[in-house]
Amino acid sequence: MGMAGATLRLESLYRRYGKVTAVDDLNLELPAGQFVTLLGPSGCGKTTTLNLIAGLERADGGTIHLGDRDITKVPPNERGMAIVFQNYALYPHMSVFDNMAFSLKLQHRPKAEIRSRVGRVAEALSIGHLLTRRPGQLSGGQQQRVALGRAMVKRPAVFLLDEPFSNLDAALRARMRTEVKHLHQSLGTTSVFVTHDQEEAMTLSDVIAVMRDGKLVQYGTQHEVYGKPCNTYVATFLGKPRMSLIEGELERGADGVAFVAPGMRLELGTEAGIGLADGDWPKVAAGLRAEDVSLGEPGPTSFGATVQLLEPIGSDTFVELGVGGAVVVARVAPDYRVTVGETVHATVKPGRVHLFDVASTNRIV
Ligand code: ATP
Repeated sequence: MGMAGATLRLESLYRRYGKVTAVDDLNLELPAGQFVTLLGPSGCGKTTTLNLIAGLERADGGTIHLGDRDITKVPPNERGMAIVFQNYALYPHMSVFDNMAFSLKLQHRPKAEIRSRVGRVAEALSIGHLLTRRPGQLSGGQQQRVALGRAMVKRPAVFLLDEPFSNLDAALRARMRTEVKHLHQSLGTTSVFVTHDQEEAMTLSDVIAVMRDGKLVQYGTQHEVYGKPCNTYVATFLGKPRMSLIEGELERGADGVAFVAPGMRLELGTEAGIGLADGDWPKVAAGLRAEDVSLGEPGPTSFGATVQLLEPIGSDTFVELGVGGAVVVARVAPDYRVTVGETVHATVKPGRVHLFDVASTNRIV
């Protein structure tokens, strides 16, 4: 087992390419032993951040600490990290064994130790029977395992993974995801994973760092970023189907506050806890996740809507509803009987309305 107890700290990190600020005042603490994912769309600075951590790129400002040690200027091979790239970057002319043994040979480890360390990792990844092959003679999934194995053999203090599954088909991706999660559970090595795939991020991570334009937007557990997204960017980036956003206004209701939009009135009660005086209420967007909207009888948090589209996914059916020009998606059981064009009552689970300030896009409650 590696040195699992290594906390990684990024402080005021900057990296510029000409006019582009790829990493923009990034502050991030990656707790020892945790699996942290940098999540965001293409170009948001994830890879640059990972390369800065690895030492493959130089920061234009800021510091990186591993435990108490300032590693900002330490060369990559002295950082105790191992990186797994999207394209695997295996040496094509070397056998699987030699690929995996490479870093240990550079360290002049005894042959017997190299054999046993490579052998053990190869067994753990079920590639023990492939050690004499060359990368060209392996499937994509097997190559990916070799790339992981090569990183594991080093027993790094930190694992860095840059979209390692993006060249695999959907089924294999899902399997590798589970494998990496098992590996992390047994090794407990601090891991930093880069992806633009929100589902991958949510299933794998202890902590998710959502990035945009080189900046950190939100940092928290899967539960926190999904359940309490800090703005509409995070709210709509995480979750499938996308969170529905309906623009409207807040009003003082019969019992607390109500959200009002064309064709829709949702009594939010007093628990909405909006810390603003009456009259100061901004234009808001109500965010509704499909799993919080069901079809059935009318109630204080229900509205009439027209069924526009049905999307069965096997375990559930997503029902796209039209309401006053807006679209809301509801989730029903696969055997729920509903047809396109039908008028229905949609009900929002109490306490599950997300509210955002339209002007700033920030979360209100
Ligand atoms: P992707 O998921 O597409 O890899 P990313 O989130 O990893 O994207 P980066 O690769 O870190 O993003 O790039 C961040 C920004 O910096 C982008 O605008 C990119 O065009 C720019 N950039 C990255 N590397 C360079 C470079 N070597 N020279 C110039 N600009 C660069």
